[in-house]
Amino acid sequence: MKSLDPILKPRSVAIVGATPRRGSIGHELMKSIIQYEYNGKLFPVNPKYEFIHSIKAYPSVQSIPDPVDLAIIVVPKEHVLSVAEDCGKKGVKGLVVISAGFKEVGGEGEEREKALLQLKEKYGYRIVGPNCMGIINATEEVRLNATFAPVQPESGKLAIMSQSGALGVAILLAVQNINLGLSYFVSVGNKADIAGIDLLEYWENDERTQVIALYLESFGNPLRFTEISKRIFKKKPIVVVKSGTTAAGARAASSHTGALAGMEIAVEALLQQCGVIRVSTIDEMMDLVFALTKSPIPKGDRIGILTNAGGPGIMATDAVETLGLRMAVLSDTTVETLRDMLSPESSVGNPVDMLAAAGPLEYEKALDALLTDDGVDLAITIFVPPLMIEPEDVVRKIIEVKERYDKPVLCVLMAEERFLEELPRRFREVPPFYRFPESAVRVAAEMCQYWRWCSRPQGQIKTFPVKIEPIKEIICKHQSTGGGFLPPIEVFKVLEDYGFPVCKSVIVSKGGDIIEAAEQIGYPLVLKVYGEGIIHKSDIGGVVVGIKTPEELIKARSKMEDQCNAAGVLGNVSGFVVQEMADPDGKEVILGMTVDDKFGPLVMFGMGGKYVEILKDITFRVMPVTDIDAWEMVKEIKSYPLLEGVRGEKRVDIELLVESIQRLAQLVNDIHCLRELDINPFIVAPERKHCKIVDARIRVAEKDVY
Ligand code: ADP
Ligand code: MG
Repeated sequence: MKSLDPILKPRSVAIVGATPRRGSIGHELMKSIIQYEYNGKLFPVNPKYEFIHSIKAYPSVQSIPDPVDLAIIVVPKEHVLSVAEDCGKKGVKGLVVISAGFKEVGGEGEEREKALLQLKEKYGYRIVGPNCMGIINATEEVRLNATFAPVQPESGKLAIMSQSGALGVAILLAVQNINLGLSYFVSVGNKADIAGIDLLEYWENDERTQVIALYLESFGNPLRFTEISKRIFKKKPIVVVKSGTTAAGARAASSHTGALAGMEIAVEALLQQCGVIRVSTIDEMMDLVFALTKSPIPKGDRIGILTNAGGPGIMATDAVETLGLRMAVLSDTTVETLRDMLSPESSVGNPVDMLAAAGPLEYEKALDALLTDDGVDLAITIFVPPLMIEPEDVVRKIIEVKERYDKPVLCVLMAEERFLEELPRRFREVPPFYRFPESAVRVAAEMCQYWRWCSRPQGQIKTFPVKIEPIKEIICKHQSTGGGFLPPIEVFKVLEDYGFPVCKSVIVSKGGDIIEAAEQIGYPLVLKVYGEGIIHKSDIGGVVVGIKTPEELIKARSKMEDQCNAAGVLGNVSGFVVQEMADPDGKEVILGMTVDDKFGPLVMFGMGGKYVEILKDITFRVMPVTDIDAWEMVKEIKSYPLLEGVRGEKRVDIELLVESIQRLAQLVNDIHCLRELDINPFIVAPERKHCKIVDARIRVAEKDVY
């Protein structure tokens, strides 16, 4: 028996705080359990009553003669601990604490929650809540509805977890509206003990559950969440609505990467990497789970659209393009079939526009033709009911046809509200339907995203041979003096030892021989200032490129000093970097890392240079980063075509970028005190030997930060 079985499949339930008093939670809860026809034993507990709703009541949990699997606690907060103690002594295996007044109110409540957890340790039971709205097991064997939400959900394939009680009710009502059917519903409240990851693990191998939906406000343990979802998502889709923000924590905006890593970035990166489908609203969640529970997963992203009206067909086509899906190219056979069968005015390309006269028969035949076509992975049918055609007949035909194929069919029904409300109860096999084309296409895009994730290879974590010892030495030395930014000479050394192509540079102290340094580099060259607190050098005129002669070099230096003086940072100047010129036609990209308090290190890639914060064409990943992740990072930025080369330009060495992302991930994995790291710009060219890192910054913390 699994440790959550006594809670989610209890054979006997005690309701502590049950009461015949109408309007109270104890009353509603008991009513809901009875009405839903729970298949186990029920024991109301309340010392004030001999019986409640004609069922014998007990003064305490310990006085119940039978064993008790689950106690649902709805007593006032002051009594929860003594009830929990009573449950422990009785040998109850699970508690659902509905009562509020715990951690969520702070102070005394926080103490109360700690004391509750101590009782859990003492007696070894598991706890849902406190401050939650209960649980449902909707399977035929159990039928336990221990919530006070006014719903009686059908049995189905969808398991739901909600961190918010109020939204939990809203979700249950939405589920009921489309008659979706549930396997389980759990409102986790304060998550003192049982949280999302416990439920994911429980549902992983639960046969009833085919789709998992989570409403999350916070992550208890993001890394564990990643690990578990990575294991589960190919077996059953996981849909997440994540609201709220992560603690941005100690994220100074001194690096580009830090400034760009907004609150939501870590969550986004994490969810994407572990194959979870993230949606933004409860509405979108319902739209998607409707499709996931009612239809197969598409095996491609080619969409066939069938409509009886031009406008909605065009809207759907537009949405297909913008959401990165493809319009299917129909085969000659399909086109011929459609031509023979439809009125001559109809358009038989994709979208197939059958015009307003199309009735049930046309929908049947045309949908059949679309689904037979190997070039169509998913069909969207759009129906705007004209007066002479009964929408119900069209829906019936669509159901008949879709049942014969292993392809998803999403329906747009722009019909009367009343018709749509009744539809889920009129047809048991109702297809997922939507009021507007955009919603259906959005769902199609999410399903295709899921299909892509499921079919992508696992990826590998590469390890390059690097010189780690000298780096550890540099970093340890720096840590022992309090951490902070490494001086440029050490930044370059760290990167070089890790196999990055660093631009040839000579560091000259403030009064040093700059001409001799220039001779080592050769003209044309670049002069840069460096020093404590000088973060964005070009902002204060601290970078001059294309210096061709010693005279120009001397001039550039004195001008630079004047500008530093004007900016009030002359005292900070430690010296200058004399650097080789990188390929003037190269593209500037950025590689970076920053640390999120909760999610750990984040690795970034994007278009770099001075405008990185304005263009924000960047992408993040949490660790670990595989070779597949690295490729996806490079390919998913908007400017990727620029790297491929446009208008006759040559493609830059993209393989080197992918490799560099993995080297950076390796560095992050080896050294645990990096606060932030920015390589900006990395100037990349078509030939590997011309690809150079010209500027980088590394800040280390005093202690390990991850
Ligand atoms: P900062 O980021 O502190 O302003 P950088 O060293 O990144 O200073 O230089 C700013 C810009 O100058 C770069 O984005 C790049 O366009 C140009 N640049 C810097 N170093 C070189 C170089 N070695 N070769 C060519 N261009 C360079
Ligand atoms: Mg820079």
